[in-house]
Amino acid sequence: MTASGSPAINRERLHRRIDELAQIGKLGDTGVCRLALSQEDLQGVLLVKRWMEEAGLQTRIDAFGNLFGRLPGKDAGKPLLMAGSHIDSQPYGGRFDGVIGVLGALEAVQSMAEQGFVPEMPIEIAAFCDEEGCRFNKGLFGVRGITGKLEEGELERIDAAGVTRREALLAFGGDPEGFEAARYQEGAVGAFLELHIEQGPVLEALGRPIGIVSGISGPLWLTVEMTGFAGHAGSVPMPMRRDALVGAASVITALNALARSEPGASTVGTVGALTVFPNSRNIIPEKVTFTIDLRDIDMERRRERETQLWRILEEVAQEHGLTYTVREDTNSEARYCAERIKQVMHEEAAQLLEHTPPELMSGPFHDSLAMSNVCEYGMIFVRCKDGISHNPLEYSTPEDIELGVELLYRTMVRMSKVEREGG
Ligand SMILES: [Zn+2]
Repeated sequence: MTASGSPAINRERLHRRIDELAQIGKLGDTGVCRLALSQEDLQGVLLVKRWMEEAGLQTRIDAFGNLFGRLPGKDAGKPLLMAGSHIDSQPYGGRFDGVIGVLGALEAVQSMAEQGFVPEMPIEIAAFCDEEGCRFNKGLFGVRGITGKLEEGELERIDAAGVTRREALLAFGGDPEGFEAARYQEGAVGAFLELHIEQGPVLEALGRPIGIVSGISGPLWLTVEMTGFAGHAGSVPMPMRRDALVGAASVITALNALARSEPGASTVGTVGALTVFPNSRNIIPEKVTFTIDLRDIDMERRRERETQLWRILEEVAQEHGLTYTVREDTNSEARYCAERIKQVMHEEAAQLLEHTPPELMSGPFHDSLAMSNVCEYGMIFVRCKDGISHNPLEYSTPEDIELGVELLYRTMVRMSKVEREGG
């Protein structure tokens, strides 16, 4: 770090906490399994709550199962500065996903408090409940709760053991009756900051420890069903076939080419699940169902690719004598980080790093995605080894994490000093 960049945060304390939290729900040598609303999740939340209290924060666990720690500001009436992420994990997860965002924000605010710094506005550190969504098959629960975006029937969703979310939430200490009161009023949060591991290979390929996020690309999720006609694999001549799997294969290959068609573009297209009916080695496939995941930070380009995809489906269906249906499962818009926050991050990073950090988009969604509906947001990514995440092999170096936390700290200090421009 440079002279003006001597670290303000307590690095040793940061890493000790990351290690200690990784012991809860430990999986093998390096992994964790802390499923949302499980005993391990609760144990983790209570540990972080204790650390928040040691840091002098006022803590509470709300009706949605979110943990908050609050540092009062000079003016209690000003919109909050919020920072955080989640500490629940995938069943076969790593120790950094979400965790560095919560413990990094805690470290930042604890350092501020220890230096006697009093922010203009109150600061809240959040560990949101159930970001991952793997247990009840729908994520961002806690953050959607406080931002008023929960949907019908969410409490009736069941996990693999038949436990409803309502039951799990009650056992955790949450309170479905208290949802309305726990919602944040419009304008209550001024800005949200999230530090997260990249979960992709871009920073590593660029040789940079941290990056500033430009936005979260919204996914378009489709389910396509292509239907042909089954027949004996030994007797139906090739020109007479209506093979749904051959059609699906053409679409998959074409989607891949479509996503690659503009060099350097942030477009990504994936077919990740496919089912074949009747799925027998000597029957021509009659029906194939597959998923499409199409993302881009540039919405205009994404819509263009979508239009091209529809044309491909039509051509393939005609060529192979198939019919098809397309169901739209999710269609969310890209959400851009606030220019003002990126600017602060760039300025602070210039003091801290030799090279200005790159800007990159987030393909995965994060708690920030839900927060972006109610306030400005900014995100910092930390390089992770081989882009691996949602896997016990997930790894970021202590030095990279420190840089990310230091930049988060500096951004928080700046943002809690300066008044929002234009009032
Ligand atoms: Zn995460």
